Amino acid sequence: MTVAEVAALLRLSKMTVYRMAYSGDLAAVRVGRSIRIPEDAVLKLIADGLADMRQARLAAIDLVRELVDPSECAPDADGHCPQHGWAGDGPCPQARARDLLAEVDGQAA
Ligand SMILES: [Zn+2]
Repeated sequence: MTVAEVAALLRLSKMTVYRMAYSGDLAAVRVGRSIRIPEDAVLKLIADGLADMRQARLAAIDLVRELVDPSECAPDADGHCPQHGWAGDGPCPQARARDLLAEVDGQAA
């Protein structure tokens, strides 16, 4: 693929693609005075990016699991949660965190 094609596909500037090619982050083949990027290299870059995103997501889930208070919320008449010191709008973040973890654990099962 040309640098322009890769840049358009990945929504990067051509300069960024050139930089990645010259640094070796993206495999490139020299063709005369220009370079071409093999499709496999683009696929590998996307796959690596997805793997990084997956790692970041798992780390965030672990952090939520560490911070969540397993004790149930005790909302007052205003819908606030004195149990967790929550007096904002909407549900208590602890309840949302428990819901999120239940959803994640449900998906994993
Ligand atoms: Zn709460």
